[in-house]
Amino acid sequence: MSAPWQHALTTQPRIAGFLDRLAGNPPRSLLLEGGTVEERLALARFWAARLMCRETSPPCGQCRICQQVAEDASRDLFLLNGAEGAINIDTVREVRAVLGDPPAGRGPRVIILAEAQALGDGAANALLKSLEEPMPGNVFVLLAPSREILLPTLVSRSFVLTLGWPRGDRENSELREWLQALAEFIQSGRGPWLEWTGRKGNVDARLADGVLREVQRCLVQAGYGNPETALARLLASRLDVVAVRQVGVVVENALESLEVGANPAVVLEWAAIRMWNLLH
Ligand SMILES: [Zn+2]
Repeated sequence: MSAPWQHALTTQPRIAGFLDRLAGNPPRSLLLEGGTVEERLALARFWAARLMCRETSPPCGQCRICQQVAEDASRDLFLLNGAEGAINIDTVREVRAVLGDPPAGRGPRVIILAEAQALGDGAANALLKSLEEPMPGNVFVLLAPSREILLPTLVSRSFVLTLGWPRGDRENSELREWLQALAEFIQSGRGPWLEWTGRKGNVDARLADGVLREVQRCLVQAGYGNPETALARLLASRLDVVAVRQVGVVVENALESLEVGANPAVVLEWAAIRMWNLLH
């Protein structure tokens, strides 16, 4: 049986390396942001097993402790999963009640708050108290698409690691560069964007279509509070629900213009300027 974190170790090797080095002196609260929901949870389990497993190169993935972490059967592992509904204050209180007891095993007790944006205000404040009290033997892990959607006081008490953003099917390195330039432009009005769209013959319809459809994808992520790319994070942090819809209309109009044969460079330039307007 391969451990449930095995796949995430291959897609997020940099984070796996960080966690391994952090294990010698684990922060009381670790926040994993970025990546996908599955990757975040898998790496949280990896972290728990890394801290609890007693084999020579932990986590071995084979021993009883690793198996229990993998199957949520460990008495020292608490998983509060916001992906399965709001995390309420009673649940957090139940966990708080056991924090004063020593862990069952020799490793620390690990409390995972998956999709921690699902914490209600009361629950978040109760959790905050736990983070502030010195309670050795307890380690917290918060998981969220991005730190911006969590209570700032939770973030400031956590050691933050940012997972790499997942690659979409259409995404290639050229498209990524264009989206980076777009994000920079709509944020600051600067960067290579206008130079690239202005360069003669630099933008064809396929590229413009790719950029616009990726913006659509980011808008959906931003609208659902689950931004997984840098652009989606920017949109989520700067636009309210109404503005997200307005950008959606801009992108739809731009795609229609492309379809009827408008100049792709002009279409991209126009769409970016409209987005810039909506962000400022
Ligand atoms: Zn093990």
